[in-house]
Parts: sequence; C-alpha cells; structure tokens
Amino acid sequence: MEINVGQRARRLDGKVVGEAIREGLKPRVAAFTAAAGRSPGLGILLAGDDGGSAIYVRNKVKACEALGISAEVQRLPETATLDEVMTIVTRFNETEELDGVLVQSPLPVGMGADAEQKVFDAIDPRKDVDGFHPVNVGRLVQNRPALAPGTPSGVMELLKRCQIQIQGAHAVVIGRSDIVGKPMAMLLLHRHATVTVCHSRTADLAEVAATADIRVAAIGRPGFVTRDFVKPGATVIDVGTTRVTDPARVVELFGEGSARLDVLTRRGATVVGDVHPDVTQVAGAMTPVPGGVGPLTIAMLLSNTVRAAVLRQEADFPTPVA
Ligand code: NAP
Repeated sequence: MEINVGQRARRLDGKVVGEAIREGLKPRVAAFTAAAGRSPGLGILLAGDDGGSAIYVRNKVKACEALGISAEVQRLPETATLDEVMTIVTRFNETEELDGVLVQSPLPVGMGADAEQKVFDAIDPRKDVDGFHPVNVGRLVQNRPALAPGTPSGVMELLKRCQIQIQGAHAVVIGRSDIVGKPMAMLLLHRHATVTVCHSRTADLAEVAATADIRVAAIGRPGFVTRDFVKPGATVIDVGTTRVTDPARVVELFGEGSARLDVLTRRGATVVGDVHPDVTQVAGAMTPVPGGVGPLTIAMLLSNTVRAAVLRQEADFPTPVA
C-alpha cells in the first residue's frame, strides 16, 4: 500500500460538530419550555463507586444545565440492590417533569450479569434517551422514528455535517456491541451504505476492513487498527476510548517525546482510540481521540432528551409494551 508520509488526514472534529448540534438544540429547548411551562427534564441514576461513571454523569449534568435542561441525579451506593434501582427507574418513569431516563453503566457487579438488561427493559421507551429499550431497538431496525443510541447517532451526524458520502459507500464496522456496533451498522444501512460488520471471529479482518470507504472502529483495543486496515483516502471513525497508563505503550503508539507522554506524566493516564496514530498518513479523513466521537455522544444525549420531551408533548409515540 502506498503511504503518503508527511500527509495527514482531514480531521473530523467532534467538538466543533458537537457544539453545532447543541446550538441547534437551543431554539427547540426554548420553544418546548415556553409551550410546556417547564424545561425538558432528564433523570439520571448513578449506582456504585465507579470513578469514570461519576465523571461521565457530572459532564452530562453540566451539558444539560448549559442547554436549559433540568437534570435530576439519584445516587445509590455500591451495595445497592437491583430492587432499589428498579424503584428509582419506576419513579423516573412516572414523573411527569422528567422526559428522559438514563441509568449510567456499569451497574455494580453485585447486581448480577443481566442487571443492566433488566433495568434498560424497565425504562419507559418514550423516555429511553440511551435507545437501549427493545422497543427502540426494534424501531431502529425497522427504520422507524426511534430514540437511537447516542454514540452511533453522533457518528451519523458527524458524517452528515462533514459531507462524507454515505450512500453507495462500503462501510465496515468493527465491533458488534448493542450500544455501538449493531446500531451503527443499522444507521449506516438506512442511509444506503453497504455495510459489513466485523468482530473478534472475523477471518482476514485487516483485508476486509481495507475494502471500506468508511471504517468505524468500536473495539476497545488501543491502536489495534493499523495502516493495513485502511484503504488510502478512506474515512476512519474511531469510537474506541481506552485509558492507557503504561508509558511504554504510549511511546510505542505515539513515539518518544510525544505530547501524549506529557499528558500521561501529568495525569497518570491518557485516553487512546482503537486506531493507530499512523493511520492519519493513509486515511482521507479521521476522528481524533479525544475530541472525536466522545463530544458527539453527549450532544446526542441532549438531542434525544429534547426529542423525547417534544414527542411526549405531542403524544406522538407508541405506548410502552406491557
Ligand atoms: P464491547 O461491548 O466490549 O464490544 C467490543 C467489540 O469489539 C465486540 O463486538 C468484540 O467482538 C470486538 N472485538 C474485540 N476484540 C476484537 C478483535 N481483536 N478483533 C475484532 N473485533 C474485536 O465494547 P463497546 O461498548 O462497543 O465499546 C467499544 C469501544 O468504544 C470501547 O473502547 C468503549 O470505551 C468505546 N466507547 C466510546 C464511546 C464514546 O462516547 N466515545 C461510547 C461507547 C463506547 P466480539 O463480539 O466477537 O467479542
């Protein structure tokens, strides 16, 4: 493969696009607030002591407040039971002033392996701003209006706003999780891409990935996607976010004396994507990590909350399945 050493891919800036999404929401929040006599509301449940989750929730609350969405956070200790979580979800479901319900993952391990699925199933689909309820998953598959998961929806917004051609493109999604890979594939399919979904058992992964015009990596393995996975000029979307604490690994990925090493030294960790930094010499356009998909995920959570508020106001949504 010919490598354009010294050239860099166009940077697809998630911060800029995320900001534009938020700006676009402001008049909708104002219109809803004027019509409903209250701001849109989001109920967030944070259970357990996971430090990362606490930071995510804080950022979500800040983003809500900046936009005029009221956020109510309920905290539960690491020792909380699934019943306690369900009680709060039921209250959130029944609270008229809350348009969205979000249960931050992961739930404490003590609640059992299937706790998250049970909790997501219990959220009123009309308030399911994460888009994890089976009603919303089904509607997404059928290409009917739905509250779709924030991360893949954010990627679609990024591609659209950066004028990346989707129709007719071959998109390869690496990762098949319920929250990223599968909904990503569906959203791309509905926009008329030809979609291939890859995973840990895919044979000849690099060769398959290298046929893509648009390649989305959602794996959770830092620097896994190297240049041989990428067709020259392709669009590369890096969803992966892994905290790396090993300086040797950072040197391996970013080189000796890199700015990343400084970040690691100052903060004790740095967030690294699934795509190797060298891919910028081959790709036509690429998202950075951090500053790519992350800001879009929060922007789409806000967008889903406003959407849920408006849809509930218009009562234009199917009643929950019993
Ligand atoms: P996940 O549930 O762990 O799924 C990972 C997927 O990657 C699985 O489908 C797995 O395949 C596949 N995979 C793992 N190793 C592989 C390999 N060697 N070759 C090919 N495929 C492989 O993860 P997730 O929740 O989708 O998240 C993926 C990454 O995105 C993580 O780094 C996460 O932190 C990040 N993320 C970021 C955001 C954001 O806002 N930026 C949001 C969500 C997630 P199998 O199914 O075969 O096991």
